[in-house]
Amino acid sequence: MARYTDASCRQCRRENLKLFLKGDRCYSDKCSFERRAYAPGQHGQLKFRKVSDYAVQLREKQKVRRIYGMLEGQFRRSFQAAEQSKGVTGENLLMLLERRLDSALFRLGFASSRAQARQIVRHNHILINGKKVNIPSYMVGVGDVVSLKEKSRANKSIVESLEAVARRGVPTWLELDKDNFKGTVKAMPNRQELTMPIQEQLIVELYSK
Ligand code: SF4
Repeated sequence: MARYTDASCRQCRRENLKLFLKGDRCYSDKCSFERRAYAPGQHGQLKFRKVSDYAVQLREKQKVRRIYGMLEGQFRRSFQAAEQSKGVTGENLLMLLERRLDSALFRLGFASSRAQARQIVRHNHILINGKKVNIPSYMVGVGDVVSLKEKSRANKSIVESLEAVARRGVPTWLELDKDNFKGTVKAMPNRQELTMPIQEQLIVELYSK
């Protein structure tokens, strides 16, 4: 499965925003963005550049795509699915991204980043309703129970992530049963609980050109 393999912190600096791609490091003073809050590259510190509407829309799309760790093709397919659903396309898109299994695991606290969550899924640690699922883009639905395999419960990084879950909090559409290493999808995600500064309408405008 193709995935982005370049330096994560460059992405935050490019988007001029902390995207929280590296788990605990993002909350420490080792965060690159805290130390160098300007775009990467030779001309990263240049100011007063004129920015077109297209550039603003493109950056918004890239930002969201990077938050969820997706490649362009995957992201565009999610957008097409959002367009075909009832409701507001931009919100539909964000809700579809939130419902991805890797994202839901990150929200539940099983992983400290979506990249780590994706690895946990790919390494066959996760069950949904008692059945093995190793597809990070799997869409969780209301009533699904996401759990950790019995023999994976001693996994140090997962245990540490669960210990730290209080720092981020679990959204109301999910319910975590930390003692039993499982989480339940109680409802569909809602837009209000996304705290990152995202203007999804700009993505809709970009893809509508
Ligand atoms: Fe972004 Fe995290 Fe790197 Fe900071 S440490 S620049 S928030 S990925």
